[in-house]
Amino acid sequence: MAVARAPERRIVIVGGGTAGWLTAAYLARTLRAGAPGGVDITLIESSDIGIIGVGEGTFPTIRSTLAAIGIDEARFLRESSATFKQGIHFVDWAETPAPDASPTQALGAVPGHSHYFHPFNFPHQGNGPELLPYWLLGGAGDAPFAEAVTLQKAVADASRAPKRPVDPPYHAPLNYAYHFDANRFAALLRTVAIELGVRHLVGTVDQVVLDGAGGVARLDTSDHGALTADLYIDCSGFRAEIIGRALNVPFKSCQDVLFNDRALALQVPYDQPDAPIPSYTVATAHEAGWTWDIGLNDRRGTGYVYSSRHSDDTRAEEVLRRYLGPAAQGREARLLKFHSGYRTAQWVGNCVAVGLSGGFFEPLESTGIMLIEVAAHMIAQFFPWGVQGGVQRGAQGEDSARTAASMAATARTYNALMGKRYERIVDFLKLHYCLSRRRDSAYWRDNADPATIPEALRDRLAQWAHRPPSRYDFVADHETFLPASYHYILYGMGFKTDLEPSRALYHRMDEARHEFRGLRAVTPQAVDSLPTHRALVEQVYRHG
Ligand code: FAD
Repeated sequence: MAVARAPERRIVIVGGGTAGWLTAAYLARTLRAGAPGGVDITLIESSDIGIIGVGEGTFPTIRSTLAAIGIDEARFLRESSATFKQGIHFVDWAETPAPDASPTQALGAVPGHSHYFHPFNFPHQGNGPELLPYWLLGGAGDAPFAEAVTLQKAVADASRAPKRPVDPPYHAPLNYAYHFDANRFAALLRTVAIELGVRHLVGTVDQVVLDGAGGVARLDTSDHGALTADLYIDCSGFRAEIIGRALNVPFKSCQDVLFNDRALALQVPYDQPDAPIPSYTVATAHEAGWTWDIGLNDRRGTGYVYSSRHSDDTRAEEVLRRYLGPAAQGREARLLKFHSGYRTAQWVGNCVAVGLSGGFFEPLESTGIMLIEVAAHMIAQFFPWGVQGGVQRGAQGEDSARTAASMAATARTYNALMGKRYERIVDFLKLHYCLSRRRDSAYWRDNADPATIPEALRDRLAQWAHRPPSRYDFVADHETFLPASYHYILYGMGFKTDLEPSRALYHRMDEARHEFRGLRAVTPQAVDSLPTHRALVEQVYRHG
C-alpha cells in the first residue's frame, strides 16, 4: 500500500539579515526545501527596518558552511566583495603604547607598540612532540609563540594570500576565513536561498500571537495576512520580535565582564588604489575599547568599539578619527548601540532565535556570524521531525503529542549546548582583556579587576600558570575556540606558564628544536610560493 506523503513541514524565518538568509539557505539545502518530503521555508523581512550591515569579519568555519550551502567560492568572493582573512593582528593590547608613539595602521611590528598575531593555522605538528611546552621552555629562543609554531604570520606580513589560484575551492595550504561587505553578502545569500526554494516575502510582522502553551500560534502581517508554521525562526536582530518582545525570554547581560556596548563604524578608502590588502583584521586597543580595521579590495571597513561607561561618544569619535587620520576626513561615522549578552534559552516552544535576537557580545573574534552558522547547523541536525527520508506525519492527535514532546526535548538539548557555548565565548573574549598589562585608563584597570573575570576563567588561569592548557580543559561540543586559539591569545599577551619545575618531563627538546628550525627554514620558500593577496583577489574577481 502506498504511503501518502504528508504536507511539508513549514518554517517561517523573520528577518533578512545575515542570520535570516544564512539560516534560510542552509536549511533549504539540508532539509530539501520544496522537494517532496522536504520542508517549506518562508522568509519575511521588513523593508522599513534595515539590516545591521556591519558583520564583515568571519571565522574559518564559514568555508564549510558556504560549501555545504553549495555556493561556489569564486562567486561568493566576487559577489560579496570578499577578501581573505588569515587571522587577527592585535596592536597595543598587551602594553600601553609609548607616549610618543603615533597611531599606527602599519602591518607587522612598529616601535612603541606591542603586537601579537592570532593566526588561523594550527601550531605545526610534524613528526616531533607538541611544540607548546618546548616553546615555553625556551626551545625557540625569543621567537613569539605564533611565529615559532606557524609560518602564517610571515605569509600575512608579506601581504601574501593563504592560497594559490590552483588550489581547489575552499581549500588551501593555510587556514583562512574572509572579510566581506555585509550588505552584499546578505544579498548573495538571498539570491542563493531563493534559488534553493525559499519563499521571500517583504513585509513587517506587526504582531506575534502566542498559542497559550509557550509557543507561537501565528504571525500577523498587514501585507501578507497571517503566517503559520511548525517552526518559527527569529532572525529579527536586536528587536528580537518573537524571542524577546513576544515570548519574553530573559536576557542574560554580560556587561559586568565584557564592557563594550557601543561602536562607531566608518568606511574609508585606501591611500592608493593598489595598496596591499591586509589579509588579517587589525585590532588596535585604545583607552576605552579597540578599533577594527578590515581590508576589502576597494575600501577599508573600520570602527571603534568601546564602553559607554568609560568613554562618551564625542571622545570615542576623536579616538577613531585620530586612528584613521586624513582617510576619515569628510566621512560620517555611524553609531551602533548594543548590550553584551544572550537569551537564557534560545529555543522556546516552536521558536528558535538565531543571530542578534539570540545574543551578541561584541565584534572581537567574529563570533556573531559563527554563532549563526552553529545555530543553523544544529537546527538542521535536531530538526524535530527528522531529516532523513523526508518528513512524515502520523494521525493528527498522535502527531501533535509526539511533536510537542520531541520539540520540548530538542529545545532542552539545544539550549544546554548553546548556553554552554555562549558561556565559553565570554571566557575566551575576556581573556583578551584581563591579561593586559595596560593600566593607563579606568577601562583597562577595570578589565583586570578579578571581580570582573568569570570564576571558571580565573580557575583556568590559575592552573595554566604552572601547566599548559590541556585538552581536558575543553569540552569539544561547548567550544567555539579550540585550544590553539587559547594558546595564541595567552602567549601572545605574554601570559607566563612556568614549566621549569617539570622540565624533566619534557625530554624531547632536540626534536622540538629541529621542528622549530625546520619551520623557519621553509618559511621564505612558502611565502614566495603564494601570490600577493591583492593579485589573487583581483584575479578571482576578473576570471572567477
Ligand atoms: P540584522 O542584520 O539586524 O537583521 C534583522 C532583520 O530582521 C532585518 O532584515 C529586519 O528587516 C528584520 N526585522 C526586524 N523586525 C522585523 C519585523 N517586525 N518584521 C519583519 N522583519 C523584521 N559578526 C561577525 O561575525 N563578525 C564581525 O566582524 C561583526 N562585527 C560586528 C560589529 C558590530 C558593531 C555589531 C553590532 C555586530 C557585529 N557582528 C559581527 C555581528 C553581526 O553583524 C550579526 O551577527 C549579523 O549581521 C547578523 O545580524 P542579524 O541578521 O541577526 O540582524
